[in-house]
Amino acid sequence: MHTTCPQCGAINRIPEEKLSQPGQCGRCKATLFDGRTVDLDDAGFKRFVTKNDLPVVIDFWAEWCGPCKMMGPVFKQVAAGMPYAARFAKVNTELAQNTAARFNIRSIPTLIVMKDGKEIDRLSGALPAPQLKQWIDGALAKA
Ligand SMILES: [Zn+2]
Repeated sequence: MHTTCPQCGAINRIPEEKLSQPGQCGRCKATLFDGRTVDLDDAGFKRFVTKNDLPVVIDFWAEWCGPCKMMGPVFKQVAAGMPYAARFAKVNTELAQNTAARFNIRSIPTLIVMKDGKEIDRLSGALPAPQLKQWIDGALAKA
């Protein structure tokens, strides 16, 4: 399977059976599965989402949005707890305007789960960590 390096964006090929180890990027040596979220701009988004065999959970947010600020640490916490189930990315809708427009993001925070470049599920509004994890698990089950 393939996954995108969270640091340099290189596409790494890893054997399925190794999908329970942190791994290391073949190009920049960064840890592949460290449970951190990745910040994506318009260019990075396309690459990250279409070159990943794992599902991608994306948090669309903006600096001025109060609920987004509450959601930020919750999203990071949930991401840290499931490093091998999916990749977690954040899209600042003011910086990645093309991506926000393409996904027709009308309210933030909006979460979208994608697999193989296709949208599987989306959720608008902030949730506490247990509910967020539950929603993501449900979405991943459909992926
Ligand atoms: Zn790398």
